[in-house]
Amino acid sequence: MEHEDSYKRVLEPKYECLLFDVDDTLYPLSSGISAQCTKNIIDYMIEKLGIDETKVPEMCISLYKEYGTTMAGLRAIGYDFDYDDYHSFVHGRLPYELLKHDPVLRNLLRSLPVRKVIFSNANEAHVAKVLSRLGLEDCFDDIICFETLNPTNNDNKSNVESPRSLIVCKPFEEAYEQAFKIANINPQKTLFFDDSVRNLQTAKLTGLHTVWVGASHRTKGIDNALESIHNMKEALPELWEDVKPDIRYSEKTAIEVRV
Ligand SMILES: [Mg+2]
Repeated sequence: MEHEDSYKRVLEPKYECLLFDVDDTLYPLSSGISAQCTKNIIDYMIEKLGIDETKVPEMCISLYKEYGTTMAGLRAIGYDFDYDDYHSFVHGRLPYELLKHDPVLRNLLRSLPVRKVIFSNANEAHVAKVLSRLGLEDCFDDIICFETLNPTNNDNKSNVESPRSLIVCKPFEEAYEQAFKIANINPQKTLFFDDSVRNLQTAKLTGLHTVWVGASHRTKGIDNALESIHNMKEALPELWEDVKPDIRYSEKTAIEVRV
């Protein structure tokens, strides 16, 4: 019986799903996209919401810390704005040309014999644009993003009884629980990649296994660290151990064709 159990454990893959953040995880912080995104958020707060320019930078940080995203914070403290308008202002004019096709990451993802799901606080159009710029649009099985967790039939003007519940986003547990339900994810069998320590710390509490991307060392409450998502295979070779023969074959064929 004991032998049977250990045999079963060996046969069963440790992970049945890999969950990925997008921004500063699938591409590096050094791309400059995030810096421009922060600038656009600041401009939105000044130009569209009329917030005093001198208060904006500090407010931007404190809302992000308290409510998960600056947008969620602005909504929670009573600013009334259209989510689509915010997203098109903040993301719609990002310099996406800074992101280039990443065939290394594409090959890594395509060779992984496990389900892959995106889990981002950003809106659908931004996620689609980033994946397309990186050449990864066909590498994921499901996408969980802003619209998935905050469907548009929600009334933006609903009463403010529970501010945090207005916008559902990482790092709050509710976002993870909803994502697990929607995408049918078992956190105990899922490895989550994100660049944000606080997102990873909540993730750990929900049962997910965690990888801190963009970090050279592990920190408290996080299982693994990768300086770049490109180091996945060296740092986590076990992810490829369940590769089925047909996947090995197609990988080999692809290399031969390229040569
Ligand atoms: Mg991120």
